[in-house]
Amino acid sequence: MKPTHIEHIGVAVKSIDEARKFYEEVLGLTCYSVEEIAEQKVKTAFFMVGQTKIELLEATSLESPVAKFIENKGQGIHHIAFAVTGLENWLTTTEGKGVQLIDKTPRCGAEGLDIAFLHPKSTGGVLIELCEDKNKK
Ligand code: ZN
Repeated sequence: MKPTHIEHIGVAVKSIDEARKFYEEVLGLTCYSVEEIAEQKVKTAFFMVGQTKIELLEATSLESPVAKFIENKGQGIHHIAFAVTGLENWLTTTEGKGVQLIDKTPRCGAEGLDIAFLHPKSTGGVLIELCEDKNKK
């Protein structure tokens, strides 16, 4: 059981409109999707790089976890997302290894993926997202 690849890297930004200029004008990437996820109080913008994406995250509310992250740490890398198959099984197994889960069951994330977060306390300080694209099967 291991992840197939890095699905995306989440980057917390104050403003997607400002931050996307670097990815578009300097790196030459194309933003292919902007999506608001009301449940998580974030707006996201996605850029494809090979099979990995960059996900820019902008808070849509002061209560958003992304707003709190920026308040504490400033803008920067917010999480790393690994693509897995069998997400439920991953969560059970991971918890069995003593890892603290933020999501005990998968929830719906951006792009219709099933996602779940692992607590940075258990991962050496990095917020880890596991995600599964069930539409791919
Ligand atoms: Zn993510």
